Amino acid sequence: MPLNFRDTAVAFQSHDDASLRRSYLLFKTLASPALVRIGQSITLWALSWRLPIKGIIRATVFKQFCGGETVADCKPVAQRNWTLGVGSILDYSVEGQTDQKAYDHSTDMTLQTLALAANEPGIPLGVFKVTGLADTGMLEKVSRGEVLSASENEAWERAQARVDRICHYAHQVGVPVMLDAEETWIQDAIDHLAYTAMSRYNREKVIVFNTIQCYRTGRLAALDAALENAQKEGYGLGIKFVRGAYMEKERARAQQKNLPSPIQPTKEATDAEFNACVARMISVLGRPEDGQKLACMIGSHNEDSASMAAELLTAQGWTPESAPVWFAQLYGMSDHISFVMAHHGFRVAKYLPFGPIEAVMPYLFRRAEENTSVKGQTGRELGLIQTEQARRSSAKRGK
Ligand SMILES: Cc1cc2nc3c(=O)[nH]c(=O)nc-3n(C[C@H](O)[C@H](O)[C@H](O)COP(=O)(O)OP(=O)(O)OC[C@H]3O[C@@H](n4cnc5c(N)ncnc54)[C@H](O)[C@@H]3O)c2cc1C
Repeated sequence: MPLNFRDTAVAFQSHDDASLRRSYLLFKTLASPALVRIGQSITLWALSWRLPIKGIIRATVFKQFCGGETVADCKPVAQRNWTLGVGSILDYSVEGQTDQKAYDHSTDMTLQTLALAANEPGIPLGVFKVTGLADTGMLEKVSRGEVLSASENEAWERAQARVDRICHYAHQVGVPVMLDAEETWIQDAIDHLAYTAMSRYNREKVIVFNTIQCYRTGRLAALDAALENAQKEGYGLGIKFVRGAYMEKERARAQQKNLPSPIQPTKEATDAEFNACVARMISVLGRPEDGQKLACMIGSHNEDSASMAAELLTAQGWTPESAPVWFAQLYGMSDHISFVMAHHGFRVAKYLPFGPIEAVMPYLFRRAEENTSVKGQTGRELGLIQTEQARRSSAKRGK
């Protein structure tokens, strides 16, 4: 049966009327670039002066895009979504940490999310960012293959130990965990950490997932190399496919350093690489009974990519429930993809960011900026919410 992403009754079943109205107002506000710009400046200024604006943030953007401030806050949100077949991936979204104490704290928070996941079927996977656990400058040097100073070497060993601690625990409790992909200049170090952990913990099944950003050139070749290596070394390969979140930054840096851009020349080229990677992975997925250890996640808000993957799976004889493939979106966005796919039996999960309000502001600003376009995502969200509001009103009138 084809997926109908316009079935708003299914898409918004987790929202009551008040929550739909709140989402509508929020997306309408975010649609104005001027309001977003002014809002960001006022928020930063008010937070720095400790003015009492946390309540407003908590009731608006934070409520829309985050699960809460703590792991415990996220539990009821995850349980509610799970009653509709949508899982949650708790994502400790505090960024820009720069000291060992903070890195240890992020490690502990990720371990806490995995501990909760071990007892909650609605939290099927975990996730973390390596930059939450280690110094970016050091990761850059490792990625360039440079010789590290004694203190950098110590920092690199600590980073490896933190990643190992998380992946070892994930293996122990049987909850898969993903490493997010970040900027190209630190990604080789992240890949090294991910594939080392996979070779340790993906022996019986896929516990550790790496991420491939298809806005980068040469990603199909990178996927093929990862597939070949995993097969040669005898471990399972888990890959999350995304398009990529740092395009402007990547292009600006390449230009500034007079280097060729690592990013695809056009959106169409990114889409083609994404679809080619997903199609390749689906074509090689084997049955667990054949001893195959491959799994993937499609992390995207793109309806065409989701439909294409669903059709390929069906064509290969997979049922939505049996395929080792997850579809994932961010909490507060693209519910029409998440809930419609879950309704059809696919494995679906939403990234559920959490953390203290001040600390998750960079994440929230990025969501606000990403949604500042009536032409793009916001237009789609607003249109769908309006359709659902109209559908509910006419259903009430018809009663
Ligand atoms: C569950 C989940 C997990 C994620 N994890 C990560 C992660 O680990 N690392 C990460 O970097 N991002 C991650 N992202 C973000 C993701 O990379 C995208 O930024 C975001 O999802 C938008 O892409 P899309 O596939 O949803 O859809 P679309 O709206 O179809 O695509 C937008 C994307 O296309 C690309 N693009 C746009 N214009 C151009 C252009 N002119 N030339 C070339 N490419 C272009 C950019 O990547 C842009 O983000 C994740 C997203 C989700 C939903």
